[in-house]
Amino acid sequence: MDHRYCIVMTQQEYLVDYHVHETFSSDARSSTVESYIKAAEDLGLSEVAFTTHFIITGYDKFFGIHENQIAEYVENIKNLDETTDVKLLVSLEVDYFPGEERRLEKVLDDYCFDYVLGATHYPNDLDIGSLKHAPSFFEGRSISEACDEFYSYTKMAVESDLFDVVAHLDYWRKFIHLVRDEPVELKDYGTVVYDMFDAMNSYDVGLEVNTSGRRHKHGIQYPINEFLEAAFVSGVDRVTIGSDSHVPGTLGFWLPEAVDLLRDIGFKGISRYQGRKRTQHSI
Ligand SMILES: [Zn+2]
Ligand SMILES: [Zn+2]
Repeated sequence: MDHRYCIVMTQQEYLVDYHVHETFSSDARSSTVESYIKAAEDLGLSEVAFTTHFIITGYDKFFGIHENQIAEYVENIKNLDETTDVKLLVSLEVDYFPGEERRLEKVLDDYCFDYVLGATHYPNDLDIGSLKHAPSFFEGRSISEACDEFYSYTKMAVESDLFDVVAHLDYWRKFIHLVRDEPVELKDYGTVVYDMFDAMNSYDVGLEVNTSGRRHKHGIQYPINEFLEAAFVSGVDRVTIGSDSHVPGTLGFWLPEAVDLLRDIGFKGISRYQGRKRTQHSI
């Protein structure tokens, strides 16, 4: 698939990409910060947040940045921020693991991150984003039952108070076509998801519109429109937008459309972060 596309922006438009992987993520080894700066300048982006994977434990521990590389990662982005008008933000996409909260807290406190993106790629120790594991996650139960487990796990991530935003809140859909032909609807998402919305409101945690879903087989952003509508009705009003780029060619992908979608649903703004302090940009 050709992911090239064009963003037409007026002077007033303001666009950010808050989910970008660079060389410290194993799945983005050749995508340097410099190459993203060039792409961001070409697109006229205002801010780019780097969110390399950080996986503190488990079988994919070495897939992301190692703890002893974080200082170098942070320094590199801060140095390159001086070279461009695009504001570069330092973040991580941090996998949540129950029982690892204190170790994660120590790492996150040790560095000056602009924001921290939480993720739950491994509920019940299965990698839902892998072809190998995804079918096992649904095996022997309904989609709703699998979702209840996923959102219980993600609710714990929210309640850990470690994260500003939680990434791609229905990422379990990535390989849903392997177990079901028709698209899923919100009624398939179980009931725990609503408890998770309440937790997001209690802990001031935002959600993300992650446009990588538009590049996956099912072709819909994470999360689906109905989910965004339900989150909005539940009072969730913190939201970031990100392309989940692993190469500069997808930077900014479908983000103007994501802003339009949020505006149509009723969201009044998108979140910006600096030094883990949030402000809102009106949309
Ligand atoms: Zn992710
Ligand atoms: Zn990511």
